[in-house]
Amino acid sequence: MQEYSEKLEDIYDEKLGRHLVASLSIEPGETLLEEQPLLVAPHWECDRLKCAQCLQESYVICRRCQVYPLCMDCSEHDVFECEFFANGAGSGIGKDLLIKNYGIFALLKLLLLLEQPDKRAQCQILLGRPVKLEDYRNEEGVWQEHEEQVVRPIMDSGLTQTLPNQQLTSDVLHAHCIRIDSNAYEVTARDGDTLKGVYLRGANLPHSCVPNTVVALDEQFNLKLYAAVPLESGQVIYTSYANPLMGTSQRQHQLRMTRHMECACERCLDPTELGTHMSSMKCRDCCDGYAVCDLGGTGNWRCLNVSCGAVIPAADVHELLAEVGGALVDAKGELNVYESLLVQNKQLLHPNHFLLLDIKQNIASILRAAALMNSLNDPCKKLLERRVELCGDLLPICRAVMPGISKLYAIALFEYLLSFVEFTELQFAEGDVDKKGYAAQLERAQSVAKEALDLLQFEPENSAEGFLTERIGMELERIESDLMKYGKH
Ligand SMILES: [Zn+2]
Ligand SMILES: [Zn+2]
Ligand SMILES: [Zn+2]
Ligand SMILES: [Zn+2]
Repeated sequence: MQEYSEKLEDIYDEKLGRHLVASLSIEPGETLLEEQPLLVAPHWECDRLKCAQCLQESYVICRRCQVYPLCMDCSEHDVFECEFFANGAGSGIGKDLLIKNYGIFALLKLLLLLEQPDKRAQCQILLGRPVKLEDYRNEEGVWQEHEEQVVRPIMDSGLTQTLPNQQLTSDVLHAHCIRIDSNAYEVTARDGDTLKGVYLRGANLPHSCVPNTVVALDEQFNLKLYAAVPLESGQVIYTSYANPLMGTSQRQHQLRMTRHMECACERCLDPTELGTHMSSMKCRDCCDGYAVCDLGGTGNWRCLNVSCGAVIPAADVHELLAEVGGALVDAKGELNVYESLLVQNKQLLHPNHFLLLDIKQNIASILRAAALMNSLNDPCKKLLERRVELCGDLLPICRAVMPGISKLYAIALFEYLLSFVEFTELQFAEGDVDKKGYAAQLERAQSVAKEALDLLQFEPENSAEGFLTERIGMELERIESDLMKYGKH
């Protein structure tokens, strides 16, 4: 069910708990771990019923157990679960248990796995891990959500009496919820919805915002972890649970909320965020200075120009970020709102600031849609040119925050490639560039496509990235056939 490379060693220490280290040197792209999910389930807060078998939208209820939702294509689901409610210990439970309390889906799945001796044995790695409930109990958010959506409905349903061997109390159920959360990756269903995939090993690796591995998931939610960079013997295997396109304080907030951890990786400890300046501010006092956060000290932002050193209080920065963040939510896809946000905040933030990147990505995706709808006239060319510029701005940043083999960078290259090729073709069609110039542009596109394909070569075929690989391959063929026509012979 789960296999990991013999080049890894399972070790324990105080700081990281149980974790994996390389025991030999490992090449980028080498598979480190392959694992099927223990369970895949909707998020706690999901209220749209999903088929118990394939997790797509559900329309009917299982005729046998009358508890689990199914879709039109699936006539049955897990035999143990079905039997438990049809004729087993759970047959006396109200048939509307799941329909009324859909949030319990993931925990119910775990509880019924634990009823089966062989499955229970596999789960030992999960159950053996201590959970400090005190760390969670006083926190409003997570505890409250588990209590309302999951724990109380299960306690009230009478289910705990049907599983006497597990000695379920509300504390045990809370600990299970936390174990599920801390062993989950967000996975994407075939219909595009996001679900939670729980993996005993692959989703409980230590975190770094600059991970040395890549997580690949295929359509059946099988996980493959591979090396992103060369690994030396003794190096700890890291994954990332944070969004790399957020600034340090936002990533740290996300990690605190979802994983109860403080990150002290090289990026989090570097006020310039690996030289990207994704959280840097423009200095208010000198014209060319940028201010970075004084991380270990006051927490205020200070201008890096030695002759200036002006300070921006942390409170001012956080207020501005909250304001821009709010405006981004309110912008709701309005192009001119994003454009004016960009103009305003360019005065205050470093050009690579994560909020400017966010605004630019929004503009680029609106322009992509607009370019599709527009006919080949002049304003379209301006739109395309702008899109090339915006997509280009993102490239060096994606490259810097995810070294080695990076899906993030591959996807950014793909977006850039599409906009660049469209723009170049239009320029050529309208006579703005001659054959020679066009061929040179195509060569550039060819190298971008090849770089993206290179980064995606270790992804499984039946995955979103596998389809992306196919798409880029088609684009590359087109570019190369044009190059044959117009390029050097
Ligand atoms: Zn189904
Ligand atoms: Zn059933
Ligand atoms: Zn970090
Ligand atoms: Zn300054």
